[in-house]
Amino acid sequence: MPELPEVETVRLGLTPAMEGFRIARAVTNRDDLRFPLQKDFVARLTGQTVTGLGRRAKYLLADLASGDVLLMHLGMSGSFRVVAADGAHTPGEFHHPRSEDRTHDHVVFDMSSGARVIFNDPRRFGFMKIFPRAEIDDEPHLKGLGPEPLGNAFDAVMLARACAGKQTSLKAALLDQRVVAGLGNIYVCEALWRAHLSPKRKAATLASRKDEPTDHALRLTDAIRAVLGDAIKAGGSSLRDHRQTSGELGYFQHSFAAYDREGERCRTDGCGGAVKRFVQNGRSTFWCSGCQK
Ligand SMILES: [Zn+2]
Repeated sequence: MPELPEVETVRLGLTPAMEGFRIARAVTNRDDLRFPLQKDFVARLTGQTVTGLGRRAKYLLADLASGDVLLMHLGMSGSFRVVAADGAHTPGEFHHPRSEDRTHDHVVFDMSSGARVIFNDPRRFGFMKIFPRAEIDDEPHLKGLGPEPLGNAFDAVMLARACAGKQTSLKAALLDQRVVAGLGNIYVCEALWRAHLSPKRKAATLASRKDEPTDHALRLTDAIRAVLGDAIKAGGSSLRDHRQTSGELGYFQHSFAAYDREGERCRTDGCGGAVKRFVQNGRSTFWCSGCQK
């Protein structure tokens, strides 16, 4: 499943094709993605200028001149392809390759920029939904989401408060979208490794008796911001590379420090341990017992 940095990279890649431009034509090649598309889906998009393309957690939010918002989610296997005068590319940087099979092109936007934006999703866990911007606080997909990990509302004080008294593991707490929005398995593993904190540690240890942030909470918030920031930077440079070559955007593998490195040497200076894997809450956790305490 694409995580926050991938979605942010997709947003950055779609922005030049969509933002400030009109959806001249919208085409749906089927009636449903994960959920049925709204009956007035095409009508509410056609002729509308995209005034802004934002992101909340792993949701893309296209603001339309009408006051509607088009919410888009990539699900497990969704991707966007941009076909423009200078070639075609798939913005984003994904751990798993995206589908090239055109039979899974489900939604197409012809933009007044001249670009064609195509949503492809073989497994159809992705979805799109239109709602009035004025009702965004009641939108079920967005309601209850915790703060953005790269936003100002997310800090050690907030994280400590959210974890105070929690007997669950640190890993489970960070995957809880009410605690912090948009973090998934990969970047939780990476952040815990970078903060030298065990994924098995109790979430409650981020807070002192007075619910104040411990040193662990400070380290962890710094690590979360750093791993996401680095991944977005890497994704952004993949977009720049594309613009230089005008070719199909390659799927380069991100160099993870812990994730998917079972049995390999830990990269912490002076650690000498090896990355291990175990299943935690049904997901693979990758970590180093030598330096993550
Ligand atoms: Zn280590």
